[in-house]
Amino acid sequence: MTLFSGHKNDIRAGDFSDLDSTSRGRNDNDMMNIENCKIDNLKAKLLLHSCCAPCLTAVNGKIDADFDISILWYNPNIEPLEEHNKRLSVLQNFADETAIQLNNYKYDYREENDKWHEAIAGFENEPEGGKRCEKCIEFRLQRTKELSEKYDLFTTTLSVSPHKNAKFINEFGKKLSPKYLKSDFKKENGYLRSIELSKEYELYRQNYCGCLYSTKY
Ligand code: SF4
Repeated sequence: MTLFSGHKNDIRAGDFSDLDSTSRGRNDNDMMNIENCKIDNLKAKLLLHSCCAPCLTAVNGKIDADFDISILWYNPNIEPLEEHNKRLSVLQNFADETAIQLNNYKYDYREENDKWHEAIAGFENEPEGGKRCEKCIEFRLQRTKELSEKYDLFTTTLSVSPHKNAKFINEFGKKLSPKYLKSDFKKENGYLRSIELSKEYELYRQNYCGCLYSTKY
C-alpha cells in the first residue's frame, strides 16, 4: 500500500481500508511506505471530518502518528440544535485537551440543516443504514471535499460505526476526489476502542446517530 510518492506535486491518495492486524494496524511494508513518503520530512496534511468526539478518539489514536491532522466539524444532520452544539462542544474540549488541531470552518446551522433536509428528501422513513444515511454521508463528504483544498488528503471518522458501510463511504469518497483517504476504522475493534477511550476521557456518548429520524429506532 503506497500512501504518497516523494514529491508534493505527486501525491497519491492513501488507502487504509485493507489494514492487517499488526501493531497500529499496518504491516511492515505499509510502515515503510509511510516513512518513505513523507513530504520533505513532513507528514501529509489530512482534513478529518469528525462526526463526534467518541468516534474521533479511536481514529486519532490509529493515525495521528502518520498525518498532520485537522479536524473538520460539519454535521448539520444532528438534531435538535442543542444536541448539535453539545456534541460540537464535547469535540472542541477533547481536541483542546489532546492538542488536536481543529479546522476553524463555521456554518449557519439552520441554513445547512435545511439543505440537509433537501438532500435526504424522499428517504426520511428509511431504516438506519439505508438510502437516507447514504444521502447524509454524501452531503457531509461533499462539503469536506470542498474544504480540502489546502490539504493533501481528506477522510471521515464515520466508518468507525458498525452502522456505517465503509465500502459505500469509500466508493463515494473516491468518486469525489483522488485525495480521499480510504478507510474502515471499525476494523481491529475500532468501535470498541472508541467506547473504551470515551470512558477514559469521560466523554458524553449520544444514544442516537444524529437526525431526529434516528431517535425512533
Ligand atoms: S441516521 Fe445518522 S447517518 Fe443516517 S441520516 Fe440520520 S444522522 Fe445521517
